[in-house]
Amino acid sequence: MFERLLETRRDGKYGISKVYRILTELDTNTKLIFITKWERDMGVGFDEDRQRKMFRLIHDNVSMREVEVNYKCVTRWHITPSVEHKMNGENSNMCWRGCGEIGTVFHIWWECPKIQAFWKIIVKLIEEITEIDIGLDPTTCLLYNVETSVNKYKDSGIWYFLNAAKGLIPKFWRRSEVPREEDWINRVNQIGRMKRSYHMQEDRMRVYFRRWGKVGKSRIEREI
Ligand SMILES: [Zn+2]
Repeated sequence: MFERLLETRRDGKYGISKVYRILTELDTNTKLIFITKWERDMGVGFDEDRQRKMFRLIHDNVSMREVEVNYKCVTRWHITPSVEHKMNGENSNMCWRGCGEIGTVFHIWWECPKIQAFWKIIVKLIEEITEIDIGLDPTTCLLYNVETSVNKYKDSGIWYFLNAAKGLIPKFWRRSEVPREEDWINRVNQIGRMKRSYHMQEDRMRVYFRRWGKVGKSRIEREI
């Protein structure tokens, strides 16, 4: 049913909110098929509380565009070579980045050597900016599996920085290249500008500085 809802929904608040409601009102014993697949890929298990927290962070996001990026990632929406190969049996199931491996969902988002190099740079930069050790962990980077509280996590800025990385990967879909450090820095600064104007209008600049102050002191800040 969930897959059908995703297929039929259109971009917009109502559609996304409906998806979120379904996800959070699930029977406590329900394990969604795509979560089971991530667990298999990552060699982990998420309990009910963990799953709910992940969905909250996935849904409660910077903008509707970010929410959509997150839903599409978590639900394994994007078609990868191995999925396409299974569907029509004609196209190659190999990774389009030329690494010689099979292009599964987990490979394209995480395991491919080219995307690993990108994630390594991003994680290093995030740790440098926030002074928090997040580690090169797919459960954190792709699914927001974090130990801290939701608010503390948002205040750390990590949430925004990972959003920026996740939003860039589909932009390089079916291409041999992957996003560069520069693309990520530009996107982070773009989100920062958006948040600054939002918090200014709401007269909540303290929140802005709490979340973005460290970017201002880091080497990645661009002229705003
Ligand atoms: Zn690859």
